[in-house]
Amino acid sequence: MTLQTIAFAGSRLDRADHVRCNPDKLAELSNWRARLLLLDGLDPVVSPDGRLAWGTLADADAEAELVFLGLDGERACFAQVPPSLNGNVGPANPRLWQAMATLDAGELATYGGARSMVDWHARHRFCARCGAPTALAKGGWQRNCGSCKAEHFPRVDPVTIMLVEHDGNILLGRQPRFPAGNYSALAGFVEPGESIEEAVAREVLEEAGVRVRDVRYVVSQPWPFPSSLMIGCHAFADDPTVTVDVTELEDARWFTRAEVEDAMRAIARLEGGSAFRAPPPTAVAHHLLRWWVAKG
Ligand SMILES: [Zn+2]
Repeated sequence: MTLQTIAFAGSRLDRADHVRCNPDKLAELSNWRARLLLLDGLDPVVSPDGRLAWGTLADADAEAELVFLGLDGERACFAQVPPSLNGNVGPANPRLWQAMATLDAGELATYGGARSMVDWHARHRFCARCGAPTALAKGGWQRNCGSCKAEHFPRVDPVTIMLVEHDGNILLGRQPRFPAGNYSALAGFVEPGESIEEAVAREVLEEAGVRVRDVRYVVSQPWPFPSSLMIGCHAFADDPTVTVDVTELEDARWFTRAEVEDAMRAIARLEGGSAFRAPPPTAVAHHLLRWWVAKG
């Protein structure tokens, strides 16, 4: 499975770690050629030709901290952390999805990474250890506490998302907030002290009462709302009896291969299938299902 097919992966910027760690080089690159990613709160600003809008460092607010996103050729790319972050910062924002739909894969990935970084900086201005103000360091890939000297790093939250298979059928569930007819792969955050395999097994047991074995990794996706890493897995179940945890899911049930194939053909036309509506191509669950259908 190629990176390019996964939404929010495949940025064309060079992350240039050697620049982050070199304040002189970073200052040298913060010149008139440097580009500033324009954001509206956390939403992308899209130009009339459907691309990310960029300004120069002269467009940055005087008080704003700058995150070094990477190099586009010789040019350094930055995003600014606004002094205060207002507006809608959640993913449930139709205007955001409309804007993202116009971006090509590389730009969507650049935007997603920048969004996660700006959001993290805006929410970590104070030290989690002692409460004193923190300052941006290493081009924004670190924050340091001025008082207790603690170092803080941008967080990535691992989430397992899994297809469970029994006798050629696949277990999918729906949350109450899903539009009618939508089903997707079960998912849940990895907890401290767990392997990915253990997190998959625990989540499926908690949400659907199903025990799994032979967990394997399939595909992953950065999901910038605010900073998840979706880890797509596959597992087998021996006993198909489902007991739904209604505090998490409205329903979970088995779908046949024919039903999944039908739903995947339908979602390619942005339609629901006869048994359920599959997740859209922006979701890693879509790629898990596509992988499963293709492997036969
Ligand atoms: Zn501190």
